[in-house]
Amino acid sequence: MRSSTIHLFIEMQVIYIKEDKFQYDIHSLYKAFYPEQDIRVIVGQRGCVPDKEMDISPDDEISFIDVNRDKNDLKRSIYKDLSIKTGKLLPWGDLTGIRPTRIAMNLIDEGMSDDEIRTYMMETYLVSEEKTNLAIDIARREKRILEGIDYENGYSLYIGIPFCPTTCLYCSFTSYPIGAFKGIVDDYISCLEKEIDYVAEAFKGKTLDTIYIGGGTPTTLLPDQIRRLIGYLQDKLDLSHVKEFTVESGRPDSITRDKLIAMKEMGVTRISVNPQTMSDETLKLIGRQHTVAQLIDSFNMAREEGFDNINMDIILGLPGETDRDVQHTIDEIIKLSPDELTVHSLAIKRGSKLAEVMREKGVDYSMKNTEEMMEIARKGAEALSLKPYYLYRQKNISGNFENTGYAKEGKAGIYNILINEEVQSIVALGAGTVTKRVFGEGGRIERCDNVKDVKLYMDNIDEMIQRKRELFEKS
Ligand code: SF4
Repeated sequence: MRSSTIHLFIEMQVIYIKEDKFQYDIHSLYKAFYPEQDIRVIVGQRGCVPDKEMDISPDDEISFIDVNRDKNDLKRSIYKDLSIKTGKLLPWGDLTGIRPTRIAMNLIDEGMSDDEIRTYMMETYLVSEEKTNLAIDIARREKRILEGIDYENGYSLYIGIPFCPTTCLYCSFTSYPIGAFKGIVDDYISCLEKEIDYVAEAFKGKTLDTIYIGGGTPTTLLPDQIRRLIGYLQDKLDLSHVKEFTVESGRPDSITRDKLIAMKEMGVTRISVNPQTMSDETLKLIGRQHTVAQLIDSFNMAREEGFDNINMDIILGLPGETDRDVQHTIDEIIKLSPDELTVHSLAIKRGSKLAEVMREKGVDYSMKNTEEMMEIARKGAEALSLKPYYLYRQKNISGNFENTGYAKEGKAGIYNILINEEVQSIVALGAGTVTKRVFGEGGRIERCDNVKDVKLYMDNIDEMIQRKRELFEKS
């Protein structure tokens, strides 16, 4: 909230542009240089509306930008100005999109050599040499992994289970605590079955390449519910071409041997058991309500039940965590030797529930990912012989960092690449999920979503199906 007290530092960056062009890019670039500040890009001339009415205070910094020029020129010039002003260089240069590997992929498709791509990305977007090499390396690996996937005639399936043991304080997904919702889970599965019936009819003759059951936490389902849901998929769809079948088993406090046995029996090939951190203290603080010991037990149990492709997610920048904590997390993970490691950057806003709870407790921890933490994670992945295979940037992440998936040879998550590179249609079932249709290779992409509220989703299941029908019947 703005106040009338005297401000000692710049609160907000206000940028005026004369024409309604490139607002998003300008906003993102400023945000990357000034992650702690509010950024406002206003179309119009200063003074048309008095500053006071626009909620602009004398402490805010005002800039004017002429947007009547080529987009890349404009972004380079803003980048250079802000870089001089702040003394910062951004690893991804002036790129504001969330999928930098897409650029490298497209250039590979155009027939460019690695050297040509490197020169182009560094000169056009001012990307650092290190990140350019990473983007090229990942794009080449992705292309190899996706060989044999039929983009045109194939599709992938996502099923969302929006229940979790409890809600983590930093959660930004659709998630309901299973304790209060267990009475509706069977009916929820019935709705998923209705959606599966639609998929069976609409995608007859198409190749189903990958299945991903995510959430939420799918392992909040009971063993019989897991068998029922996957059994229905087997009955209604042709799974004979499925190359990968993932069930996220993220929260160790939801995993039991019986559930692992059920998933293995039903053909699940890949699971995720997520520590986020190997510090009990941090786990408690972020409301995960499981311990490190539970995580290790769940992981070992999954290995005992024959899972040979297990991913682990970690988050960098968790409250109060230093390089030493991250190193400890990595050291413990190395002992377990997962097949994949996904490294996320935490993007927590000051007004988030986690920040609020910490304030209530009277603690003001730093919540910052750093280059050093990323490097510790990267070296850990290297020690495990895991190679980076997909990467995306979150919008407005403090420090301009990326999330990276690392995997052992032959274990990379195909679905993760498909959704990230947007090269194949993904049909998504369940509350809060988004279906994406790719209209042919390199073609346009359109989406339709299912409502987030689980009860609304169930009450309106026919409408959810109708939305998909309309999307896939479009020419
Ligand atoms: S496990 Fe994931 S989806 Fe569930 S509450 Fe925690 S962050 Fe949200």
